[in-house]
Amino acid sequence: MSKVSDMIHRVNVPTPFPVGDVNCYLIDGDPLTLIDVGPKTDQALQTLAEGISQAGYKLSDVRQIILTHGHVDHMGLAAHILRVSEGLVKNEVPVLIHSEDLVRVSDFVGFTERRTESYVKIMKYSGVPSTEMPGISARILSRYFIGLGDSVPCARGLQDGDVVHTGIGNLRVLWVPGHSQGSICMVSEKDRLVFSGDHVLPGISSNPSLDFDITSEIPMVTHMRSLERMRSLKGFLVLPGHREQITDLVHRLNELAAEYDRKLNEAEQLLESSPKSVYEISRVIYGQYDTQNMILALAECHDLLRILERRGLAVLQTDSGIVRAKQP
Ligand SMILES: [Zn+2]
Repeated sequence: MSKVSDMIHRVNVPTPFPVGDVNCYLIDGDPLTLIDVGPKTDQALQTLAEGISQAGYKLSDVRQIILTHGHVDHMGLAAHILRVSEGLVKNEVPVLIHSEDLVRVSDFVGFTERRTESYVKIMKYSGVPSTEMPGISARILSRYFIGLGDSVPCARGLQDGDVVHTGIGNLRVLWVPGHSQGSICMVSEKDRLVFSGDHVLPGISSNPSLDFDITSEIPMVTHMRSLERMRSLKGFLVLPGHREQITDLVHRLNELAAEYDRKLNEAEQLLESSPKSVYEISRVIYGQYDTQNMILALAECHDLLRILERRGLAVLQTDSGIVRAKQP
C-alpha cells in the first residue's frame, strides 16, 4: 500500500496477466470507496485485504465500489467484497460501472463465454498458423477467464457526467469508450486529479481494440477520440489502473497519438511488397509476442488495417476465411 494523498491509498494488486499489478485506490471518508478491485485470485484477495488493513480498515468496511471498466483484472473480486460486506450492513454496497460495461459485471459468466468465442474467431480470420494455436479453444479460454471473476447482478450503470459522492468530494464520470465500450475516468475537479483506469497509462499504450465485435465503429478510432477528450484535464494528476501516476497528461497524450501514427505508417508500408494477413503484419509491428498477448496484437492490428481501408490506403479481402490486406 502507498499513499497518494492523506485521503487516497493505492494498493498494487497482482494479476495473472502480462500487464502486471492493477492499481486499486481506497478513498477514505464516507462512504469508504474502492476504485477497482483486482481479479479473483487468492493472491490478489490477500494483497488487497492487507493493503486495506494497512490503511486502517477491513475489506468489509468498504461501502462503495467504482469500476473504471469491466475487464476482469479490475472487477473480478467485486462480488466477493459484496459478500463480506453485506453480512454487516443493511443497505447494499453499490457497485458502479458505466452502463456500456454493465453486462460484463452483471452477467460476467455469459459475457465471458460470448467474448472468448470471438477471441478464437479473430485468431482464425487473422491467419494464425495452427502450430501457434496449440490447445486454445473457446472452452479452454472461457474457463480460464471465468475463474478470475464473479457476476454482480446488482451492479448499477453510470452515464457520462454523473457525479458520485466520495470522501474526497464529488467525482465526475468522464466516459472514454475505446479500451472497452464502457471505460470511464473519475474526475475530481477540486483536487485536480483523475482516476483514469486503463484509458491512459504510462509507458504502455492500453489496447483499444478488444471490443471489436460489439460495434461497427473501429474501436481504435473511438479510443483516439476519447484520448482527445482528456486534453480538457490539462494539469490534472493522473492515477492510472496500472503502473505509476502521470504528472504531464498532455505530454503523454501527444506520445500516444504519435505512437498510433507510427504503427499506421508501418502497416501501410508493409503492404507495398505484397498482400498480407493480419497475423503476418502483427508479427512485424508487435514482434515476438507470446500466446497471452496474441489476441491483443491481432485485434489492434486488424484495427490498423480497417483504418487504412477507411482512408483509402488498403483493401481488405477475405479468402478461405482469412482476412488479407493489400494496396488499393
Ligand atoms: Zn483493461
